Amino acid sequence: MSKNIIEDKTQSPLKEQGAQKQERKVMQIGGVAAQRRKRSVLQDLQTAASGTGTFADFIYNGGPVINTPQVYAIFFGDWSSASNQNRATRLSQFITDLLNSRYMNILSQYGCGTTGTLANSVFIASSDHDLSATDIKNILQTAINSNQIPEPTNHSICYIIFLDDATAVNDAESRAIMCEPASDNAFGFHYFFMTTAGNLCAYAVVPGLIDACLKNTCSSDSRCSLHLAQTQEQRQTQVTSHELAEMFSDPLFPTGWFGRRADENGDICNGRSGTITVGANTWSVQLMYSKWHDMNTNGSSTCILDNPTPLPSLLPA
Ligand SMILES: [Zn+2]
Repeated sequence: MSKNIIEDKTQSPLKEQGAQKQERKVMQIGGVAAQRRKRSVLQDLQTAASGTGTFADFIYNGGPVINTPQVYAIFFGDWSSASNQNRATRLSQFITDLLNSRYMNILSQYGCGTTGTLANSVFIASSDHDLSATDIKNILQTAINSNQIPEPTNHSICYIIFLDDATAVNDAESRAIMCEPASDNAFGFHYFFMTTAGNLCAYAVVPGLIDACLKNTCSSDSRCSLHLAQTQEQRQTQVTSHELAEMFSDPLFPTGWFGRRADENGDICNGRSGTITVGANTWSVQLMYSKWHDMNTNGSSTCILDNPTPLPSLLPA
């Protein structure tokens, strides 16, 4: 799933992250963590058995994965301004480019295929600026009911919701708090629910990530996974690459590619950014974990930007 969680010691910790001065622990279930991973966590993970790489407990857990994704982008809230329309166009182009880039040659090892499609971009106007878990499910189910997006009748269909700059999330179910005035713990998340027709609806949510959101989430820019020096677009594409990679490889969290210590593939490389060039466009993305590289380099190569050719699927035959 995707979100970062504020400490809740009643939950079994999937991962902990120190949050700077307060040392508040943040557990992450798959979102873009707001803070960089503590070094002590990495050292701990590096005690994994040799020969299986640094993140040995990151494994396939038998559940669905999204192969050759058909992504529907939903722009939720008020996207009517010219600048927002332009940003929506750019974010849509980014998804198309990402799905047709060598970044997918990383995800092929997780059974996600080597390409995908942005099937459609839709706009859903709303003045609700504070979304709960129920709100988010209702947005998707209502859009399915009204045929704005299709019923997810197969595991290729998935959704990503981009929120306008005024909209925050307090999702008690996934425990993602994003772009609220306080207590933020994530810059994006992915999760799922079962539609009324009984199908798995996998979705990701990316908020506006304006400066105020970063400042409210991170007390130290240098230790934050996103940075004030980045453009809004760069922040959003970085988070989108993280969440899409996790949603494709672990749509029914945590039954896909997941490790209790490693977390999901995006989390392992959280906060590490680079660029990819696709045609005329250069985009900021997050480096992505490659188990194939981790295993084949005995742990020396873990987070990469792309691969020249599709990496072979590591799913059981
Ligand atoms: Zn994540």
